Amino acid sequence: MINKVIIIGTGPAGLTAALYAGRANMEPVIFEGPQPGGQLTITTDVENYPGFPDGIMGPELMDLFRKQAQRFGAKTISLMVDKVDLSSKPFKVWAGDKEYAAETIIISTGASAKLLGLEAETRLMGYGVSACATCDAFFFKDKKVFVVGGGDSAMEEAIFLTKFASSVTIVHRRDEFRASKIMQERAFSNDKIDILWNSEVIDLIGDKSKNGLESVIIKDVITNKEKVYHVDGLFLGIGHSPNSEIFKDYLDLDEKGYIITSPDTSKTSIEGVFASGDIQDQRYMQAITAAGSGCMAAIDAEHYLESLK
Ligand code: NAP
Repeated sequence: MINKVIIIGTGPAGLTAALYAGRANMEPVIFEGPQPGGQLTITTDVENYPGFPDGIMGPELMDLFRKQAQRFGAKTISLMVDKVDLSSKPFKVWAGDKEYAAETIIISTGASAKLLGLEAETRLMGYGVSACATCDAFFFKDKKVFVVGGGDSAMEEAIFLTKFASSVTIVHRRDEFRASKIMQERAFSNDKIDILWNSEVIDLIGDKSKNGLESVIIKDVITNKEKVYHVDGLFLGIGHSPNSEIFKDYLDLDEKGYIITSPDTSKTSIEGVFASGDIQDQRYMQAITAAGSGCMAAIDAEHYLESLK
């Protein structure tokens, strides 16, 4: 069977593409991937999605997106796509040992949290090291935690962690944050938050078979002095990288691995393959912009299918 459209990824972009494709009678098949609902499912209050004046919890918002897409016939498959072949038509997608074919593909696989690249960080992930405060903050009740980064993610993680931890220290490699003013102000005015400026985490000490993470070694990048701090938790808030690995042999990507779309459209370098959301956007990266680009991708896919007739 050849599907009209396969959508890969179920964040705001993929589910909005599914909603529009469903309403256009394209009977979209949508693969959920490893994090159904995308990054908003690991966030708490979403205060900037229009239509929810009192805010809404991220997972609840994504449930609403999913229900709305399913109402118009989107078929969700709870599998991760491990391979694609975009070299000929129909396009092919493999998930859970099964092959699926489609006339058009919308890629909305988003981006994932970046790591520092330290050997100890992967070893201690889940044992004191985390890239998701919303998921793990609860385990650090009355504990001392550090957060790495100077953007909105780091501020958000730090502020959220103050609800649980006894103290939160933000470690930033420069002497100013790049986070939005409002988030910076919230962090600065929080009594539980300290900041280590011009500082880099260069190693972690701990044993996962014992107490997990015990200390971090921090280098002052001005003086080059190193200092060991006892910590119970280390949270990484240093940005994201695009989930584009399986597409790299077929599509034009930029130097960071983001899919390149032609200006003002969702069109990729292959006719009939469209991209929406964070996989092609490193500038805005908001739920609302991802949803908007998912809508664009469904409309572009619909026009493409029309052009084949
Ligand atoms: P970001 O803006 O790219 O910030 C990443 C931060 O991590 C930067 O401060 C960067 O330092 C630091 N960093 C990167 N690699 C590092 C490394 N290897 N070692 C140490 N530090 C490192 O990423 P983000 O905070 O995830 O935000 C991404 C986008 O999502 C932004 O547009 C943001 O506004 C949005 N966002 C919004 C909200 C919200 O509104 N509530 C929440 C989260 C994210 P430098 O500053 O020195 O480069």
